[in-house]
This record gives sequence, C-alpha cells and structure tokens, in this order.
Amino acid sequence: PAEAELEALQHVDVARLLPVPGAESDKYRRGVVGIAAGSARYPGAAVLAVSGALRGGAGAVRYVGPAGGAVVSRFPETLVSDQGPAKAGRVQAWVVGPGAGDDAATVAEVLDADVPVLIDADGLRLAERDVVRARSAPTLMTPHAGEAAALLGVAREEVERARLASVRELASRYGATVLLKGSTTLVLDSAGGAVRVNATGTPWLATAGSGDVLSGLAGSLLASGLSALDAGSAAAYLHGLAGRFAADGAPAGAHDVAEAIPGAWRDVR
Ligand code: AMP
Ligand code: MG
Repeated sequence: PAEAELEALQHVDVARLLPVPGAESDKYRRGVVGIAAGSARYPGAAVLAVSGALRGGAGAVRYVGPAGGAVVSRFPETLVSDQGPAKAGRVQAWVVGPGAGDDAATVAEVLDADVPVLIDADGLRLAERDVVRARSAPTLMTPHAGEAAALLGVAREEVERARLASVRELASRYGATVLLKGSTTLVLDSAGGAVRVNATGTPWLATAGSGDVLSGLAGSLLASGLSALDAGSAAAYLHGLAGRFAADGAPAGAHDVAEAIPGAWRDVR
C-alpha cells in the first residue's frame, strides 16, 4: 500500500490527545461513560469493561445491565442502574456489547442515543447496519478479525489476508469509525482518510477479556470528548503499552492489563 494510506501512531501524538482535567473541571465536565455490557453468563465482561473505563479519563462510569452486583463489589465508584440505557441518566458516550449475549433490545436502545457509541463483541452482531448508518452521533466499532469477517460475510482468513481493505470496507458499509484488532491494530475514521496503525501491543494481549478492557478504555476517552478516531487510536496505544507493562516477560490476565493502564498513561504523558 502507498505510504500515505498508513499513519503509524506515535508517542507524541497520543500524548497530545490524552485529556487533562483543568482547575474548573468537575466529574460531569470530564464526561460520564455508560457501559451496557455483561450478562448472567458473562458478568466478567462487564467488570473488565468498567475496569478499562475507570482508567480512561471520564469523570464517572455508569453501568447498566445484569452484572451490577459484580461490578460494584469490584469497583464501588461505579454508578449502577437497573434501568435500561434510555433511563440511566446523563451519559456522554456509551459502550455496548462485551459479554452482552443476545440482548438486542439493549443494543438498539443504546444506538438510539444521541451521543457517541462504541460497539464491540456481541453488540457487533446485534447492531443493524441501517440503524448504525442512520445515527447522528459518531459510532466506533471494534471488531477482531473473526468479528470483522462475520460482519463482511467472508472467512476470517480473508480479513487476515486483506486487513486494510477490510477496515475500509467496514467503515464504508457502516458509516462508522472502525478499529480492527490484531497483532497490530488499524483505526479508520468514518470519513475515510489514512489508516492509523498501532503496534504497541504484545502477543500476551491475546487473552480472554483483553478486548473488553480496550472497549471500556476507548469509551471513556470518547466520553471525555475525543473524536471516535482519536479515542480509538489513543486507547489502542495505551492498551498495547499496558499489555507490555503487565506481561513483562510473563503471562498476565486481562484485569492485570487494566491495572497497568495508569502506568502506560504516565509513560505517554
Ligand atoms: P479481543 O479479541 O476482543 O479479546 O481483543 C484482543 C486484544 O488483544 C486486542 O486489543 C488485540 O489487538 C490484542 N491482541 C490480540 N492478539 C495480539 C497479538 N498477537 N499481538 C498484539 N496484540 C494482540
Ligand atoms: Mg472481544
């Protein structure tokens, strides 16, 4: 591919993106991120998405879904609601999908919101293309190769063989910003342009729940006011670094990756 098509993410660029609260900040001005994730079967996905979100710069994390008990017992600072997303109170960006199972109604309710939405995991399967296309606020989709293949109706190998073309095709079909995960992560704005490439990750990040942490982190950056492109890029960069710090020569779990985010953040700033 021509060089202009690709843009390697650099430390200095990411440093400029990270939000810093000013003297006049309060938690609402810093942004509230809503997490609609988890299910009776996968409560841990909710906990991990919240753990990423708490370290992403938003002033508050609001959780809606069936795993509220697990979420507050691990993270007491989370605002938990047993109402659906539409009744949950003010939110500046939503994350929907990790561990969500077949809860299509929640996905539809989130997509109806007039704020940026990140769609991951089960949410990708449940989000209707026309509904995503018709959204007035930005949408950020974060598939891995298998999820991207399912959305495009092709084999996973085909996405792996043609990652650039796949990310372009998805962004154009859905009118969304797309972050394609993998050994490197590609991020492309809904308007097209150059594809940003992140290479801070490590194969140790190939571990259950790792993507859930990323989606919470990116959602939090969205809530703090970054564009979908910048939020996805900065989150991929920090998540990759956190993976390296957490799995420093030995395996780590996804929750360890989340705990390493503040160190990655300090390293970037
Ligand atoms: P998920 O598949 O949703 O759990 O997400 C996995 C996360 O780990 C994504 O952020 C990937 O980019 C990252 N990841 C997976 N495999 C690798 C790898 N071989 N090298 C670097 N990062 C990886
Ligand atoms: Mg995932």
